[in-house]
Amino acid sequence: MQREFAFSLLALFTWLAVLGLAVSVTRAQTSQPAPDHPAVTINGRTYTPRSILARNMGSPEDQTTAFPPHKIIDNIYYVGTRTLSSFLVVTPQGNILIDSTYERNVPTIQKSVSQLGFKFSDIKILLGSHAHADHQEGDALVKELTGAQVIAMAEDIPALQAIKPNGREHPINKTLHDGESVTLGGTTLVAHLTPGHTRGCTTWTMQAQDGGKTYNVVINCSLRSPAVLTPPIIDEFNRSFKLVRALPCDVQLGDHPAQYNLQQKYAKLQNGGSNPFIDPAGCRVEVDIEEAMFHAILDEQNSAGRSRTAK
Ligand SMILES: [Zn+2]
Repeated sequence: MQREFAFSLLALFTWLAVLGLAVSVTRAQTSQPAPDHPAVTINGRTYTPRSILARNMGSPEDQTTAFPPHKIIDNIYYVGTRTLSSFLVVTPQGNILIDSTYERNVPTIQKSVSQLGFKFSDIKILLGSHAHADHQEGDALVKELTGAQVIAMAEDIPALQAIKPNGREHPINKTLHDGESVTLGGTTLVAHLTPGHTRGCTTWTMQAQDGGKTYNVVINCSLRSPAVLTPPIIDEFNRSFKLVRALPCDVQLGDHPAQYNLQQKYAKLQNGGSNPFIDPAGCRVEVDIEEAMFHAILDEQNSAGRSRTAK
């Protein structure tokens, strides 16, 4: 009985310590960059939370400068900036846009769509990876310019509604749940709930044809851990890593181009030959990095909690 009481007291102190850490980290994030620890090494490269964030976001100029728009495979095109992905899926019945990114990038995306020979006004459906401003702040403007139906994962809706550029309400026309799909003009995208980074983080899967073969395309939602992992977020990540690893994958894309080595693949694309985006071996690299980082952050957090409790 006494032992049980001591254990629950220990657990309580551990969580109070974690809570204290959470408050101090949240405060620190408003003015300081992501921490430069812990570090994990995957395939000979070392990453920290700070280096992953820098890799994803690049400079303010990278976030707003168009990456050369290009065909990825079949009817999937890249129309985003150097560090913020935006994908256009073209069908005979109109097009689907995945991620509007920042509102100020919408004219840049619009220009990339035209450069590829498509009409921005043909976007009939707007989807998203997750409810963070760098991926979905532009939804209201895209909706205004195209009249597209905005479809969102149920678990991300509260966070999406909190994104209000210039006070504009975030449009949501249809709510999706895990495993449901969106079909337009013969193309079907399946929405997989892969929470952790946000509650409704959505990994999209679809099939594409190339040279008479069918390939599985996975458009990953970010798997990047926040600075503090709470019990519900830990559970979410544990489920998401497992789910993402189980998805059949030949072509892996992500909400930031660095998550799938766009720079290198695009360079290969210029040389001709086989499609560099078909890369089953590369499909698990990002999940390997993020899962290792998740465990390193969790270990660091648990040992911080233990040392605080011991004082
Ligand atoms: Zn994010």
